[in-house]
Parts: sequence; C-alpha cells; structure tokens
Amino acid sequence: MAVQARGKVTVDVEECKGCGLCVESCPPKCLELGSELNAYGAHPAHYTGQDCTGCGICFYCCPEPGAITVYRVKAKAKAVAPVAAQEGEHAAAL
Ligand code: SF4
Ligand code: SF4
Repeated sequence: MAVQARGKVTVDVEECKGCGLCVESCPPKCLELGSELNAYGAHPAHYTGQDCTGCGICFYCCPEPGAITVYRVKAKAKAVAPVAAQEGEHAAAL
C-alpha cells in the first residue's frame, strides 16, 4: 500500500560527486545515481520522487556540503516537530 511521502530531497547536481553514499544509506531506497554527467564528470544522485520519509540520513552521510537538501512535510492535524518545517520549506536542522 502506498503511503504519503513525509519528505523529499533535492540534489544540487553540480555539488554532487556521485559517490553513492546517499543511495546506499537511504532506508526506503528512494535515491539513485543518474545517467547524465555533471561538470565533475560524475553521475549525480537523484530523488526518485516517492517514499522519502525525511529522515535526513542522506544529508548526514553526504560528504559534500550543500549537495543534498532535505524537506520534511508537515503532518496534518499535528504539531510541528522542532526540526520540521512548513511544507515546502527547508527543515532548519538539516
Ligand atoms: S531523507 Fe531519508 S528517506 Fe529521504 S532520501 Fe534521504 S535517506 Fe532517503
Ligand atoms: S552522498 Fe552527496 S556527493 Fe555522494 S552521491 Fe549522494 S549527494 Fe552526491
């Protein structure tokens, strides 16, 4: 059964070195390396577009500052967790 994503990520393809650490560490396996090359000649990571939980593991394992941004979706009818952000805004702690 499909569940609503609780997060999403964006990758700055020109900051990504294509190391794949985020791909390997993502629990729901919703990241992948793309087929295109960036300016470094690397295959940058991409979000597949579904199943992100907003856990932030990819952010913490990425060696390139600024390559990954994690967004957490605000839960309906619940208080916002301290590190969560409004939908569409960057979570302050990540
Ligand atoms: S925040 Fe968590 S679930 Fe989302 S892409 Fe990163 S590791 Fe995967
Ligand atoms: S961990 Fe960072 S540098 Fe490595 S593939 Fe993922 S986004 Fe790119």
